[in-house]
Amino acid sequence: MEPDNTAGRRDFLAGLLALPALPGASQEATAQQTAAPPALPRFNAIQMGPHTMLDEGIDRCLDLIQETAGINALMVYSHTYHGDLRKPPQLLATDHGVPPRDMRNRKLPSVWVRQHEQYFQNTPLRHQRVDRSFEYADRDLFAELAEPARKRGMKLYARILEGSGREVAQIVQGFSQIVTRDIDGRPTTVACWNHPDYRAWWSATVEDLFRSYDLDGFQWGAERMGPLMNVILPWNDGAPTCFCEHCVARGRAKGIDPERARKGFEELYVYVRGLMAGKPKPADGVFTGFLRVLLRYPEILSWEYQYRLSREEVMQAMYRTVKGIKPAAQVGWHVDHQPSSWDLVYRAEMTYAEMAPYSDFIKFIAYHDILGPRIRYWYLARFQRTILSEISLEQSLDLYYDLFGYDKKVEPKLDQLDKTGFSPDYVYRETRRSVASAEGKTKIYPGIGFDVPWGSNHVAADPEKVYECVLNAFKAGASGIVVSREYEEMRVPNLRAVGRAMRELA
Ligand SMILES: [Zn+2]
Repeated sequence: MEPDNTAGRRDFLAGLLALPALPGASQEATAQQTAAPPALPRFNAIQMGPHTMLDEGIDRCLDLIQETAGINALMVYSHTYHGDLRKPPQLLATDHGVPPRDMRNRKLPSVWVRQHEQYFQNTPLRHQRVDRSFEYADRDLFAELAEPARKRGMKLYARILEGSGREVAQIVQGFSQIVTRDIDGRPTTVACWNHPDYRAWWSATVEDLFRSYDLDGFQWGAERMGPLMNVILPWNDGAPTCFCEHCVARGRAKGIDPERARKGFEELYVYVRGLMAGKPKPADGVFTGFLRVLLRYPEILSWEYQYRLSREEVMQAMYRTVKGIKPAAQVGWHVDHQPSSWDLVYRAEMTYAEMAPYSDFIKFIAYHDILGPRIRYWYLARFQRTILSEISLEQSLDLYYDLFGYDKKVEPKLDQLDKTGFSPDYVYRETRRSVASAEGKTKIYPGIGFDVPWGSNHVAADPEKVYECVLNAFKAGASGIVVSREYEEMRVPNLRAVGRAMRELA
């Protein structure tokens, strides 16, 4: 690792400023040598991996994002159970002034905060213990960040994405005891929203965070869909969940027959898996066959809805906990790409206004570039193998554009989806839709994404489009933006494009 030496940093920044200038950049740099620069008025956060800041050096890193992109809030992972810490080198930006380190053979922790046992008395679950064998075990990033962030007028948010899978089940003590059960009663490696120990663990986690560190806010997310969507648009082959004792008890209390729900999901799963395996299609049609199962087992929809409500209750508990400790802290949610841009079930379940009582902000994903291949292969291709096999991919794409209110004259045609990204108009429309859904009751922050990889390939962003996306977000009524996905992937010309738009808006 290159040491964070101040002289080197000054050279580096001088180099940046010598490149095609952003308006006002040199004046700002001059001002910064004498006093802290004024924070830009619009919320302009960035998502950061903790290791990147330590690799590049905190001061150097903060200077870079402030001078290029005008960033005034940091969203840093406090826990990286979901974050990919083993990216191949071609995905990492090489123009930050410090060569990126190969992430694949490092022993990085999953927990980047000090932990305090007293807050975890109500749950048997425990986060990873970070001993001396982990890189950066001696660093306390959130404590170290406080002063450099304040000095620059930057807010400091902790950020977490829920983890799941075999690896997380091994890292988190007690995890295997709180997982979902599928229709056959088999345990999975995904946690159950209704397990009291799991809920208590999240509340304990945020309590520890906000009692131990001086944080301005918190963003939390869980990138998983409901059981209905995972059957008809399968992310994995897993059978539908959850039918654990807690979910069964909840269903019963809500007047839903758990056995009918289980049987309905079983029939739907067998039906869709049969379609995927090439079994003969029903004479009445594939989509009709889907409706038939739903009509006979309306409990499927009720169960799906409870799954969503249970998730919201986990968030509500975290919200209350944080607000009880620090009322001014801003607590909000990461809505990932599927629910923001192609999951009609998630969208139908709840408006953002309904989430507002426990949401200071909603950060939804609006990654224009990567939406192209994602729609091509994660939406169109998968639906064609399940309940939309009767329509062509072209028709399905048309239907998608119309159902979601995107402009098909502007957005890519089928054969362009995996070559060109969506347009900045998508960011405009999705922001406008989200702002309307929020009814002014919570703030909407679009996640402006660039340099987001597709598989192990870097997808290079066009700075001009990034610039337009930022302008469009605000034109559509956003209260701020979150520069995404990860700082370690972001190339400097695109960071500059964000800064150019923010400075024009200011
Ligand atoms: Zn359950």
